[in-house]
Amino acid sequence: MRAITVSRFGGPDVLEVADVPDPTPGPNDLLVRTEAIGVNFIDTYFRTGAYAVDLPYVAGAEGSGVVTQVGAEVRDVRVGDRVAWSSAPGSYAELVVVPASAAVPVPDGVPAPQAASALLQGMTAHYLLHSVYPAQPGDTVLVHAGAGGVGLILTQLAAARGVRVITTVSTDAKAELSRAAGAAEVLRYGDDLAEQVRGLTGGEGVAAVYDGVGASTFEASLTSTRIRGTVALFGAASGPVPPFDPQRLNALGSLFLTRPTLAHYTRDRAELLWRSGDVFAAIADGRLRIRVGAQYPLDRAADAHRDLQGRQTTGSVVLIP
Ligand code: NDP
Repeated sequence: MRAITVSRFGGPDVLEVADVPDPTPGPNDLLVRTEAIGVNFIDTYFRTGAYAVDLPYVAGAEGSGVVTQVGAEVRDVRVGDRVAWSSAPGSYAELVVVPASAAVPVPDGVPAPQAASALLQGMTAHYLLHSVYPAQPGDTVLVHAGAGGVGLILTQLAAARGVRVITTVSTDAKAELSRAAGAAEVLRYGDDLAEQVRGLTGGEGVAAVYDGVGASTFEASLTSTRIRGTVALFGAASGPVPPFDPQRLNALGSLFLTRPTLAHYTRDRAELLWRSGDVFAAIADGRLRIRVGAQYPLDRAADAHRDLQGRQTTGSVVLIP
């Protein structure tokens, strides 16, 4: 099969198209022929070596496709079923071994590119909004990178709850998309960001900041948050946040700071099915739109990474095998 392999850490060029042997599923696995493959920022952290992974490896973790083989111990899944997953290493490939415990059914009416890119970003938005800081109607929250994959989903889910969402974006086109997703106010990054947020909240600050940008926004996130508010630092698109003195949380207003990750919010099968079921149900009945902002053939995975890291993409990004 064709796959995208990485044999040394580095820039997008280390993503290589290769012919590799078909993978073999174990007794608790499914073999899936991919229809679409999700591209996520975390894929770039593995590619550069910022996150630990053994070399060589096949890139990717998310996708959707059709089951072609079912392990002997697997119940409830049949050859021909449509499934999606967000945590199967080796997903940038024509065939992927997906542990049955990580696969979820795809409802009719959810097209493959949406199914392939809704879980990782959608379940992240879901846990941030339901479990990290459960935003209430009337709350104001700040979402950085409002036109990104997570940003567009988080904004829609929060706005639908009656939460007032302020977002940040880098261009006019992204501002338009963010507003269409339900942002009440769209701001640009800059030195006066916290001042602007305070101006929009009567000087109070926001109840929560959902910050997936990291290094370049973290300081403004802290200073935009109201007394006893929450800063959820969930990513590092602009680079990792430097070491931080927890005493500052006191001075800034008894803030809560957390650095969550999806794996800890999909700890068992029941939690995975709850979050994925909510996300897919919202897509299927039209409450949630997954904007697939860019599709590339599998062989052009390097271009997908270049564009994602170069801030050229909006919404979700997928590869088509
Ligand atoms: P996005 O589609 O949001 O892409 C990243 C966006 O970040 C860019 O489009 C850009 O938007 C913004 N950005 C700001 N500064 C930079 C910079 N210096 N370089 C690159 N981008 C920048 O990506 P995802 O939706 O896939 O992921 C968003 C974040 O969420 C990532 O940090 C990712 O790691 C994190 N994440 C964390 C999870 C968790 O459980 N902890 C799970 C899923 C994602 P603009 O141009 O408007 O600024």
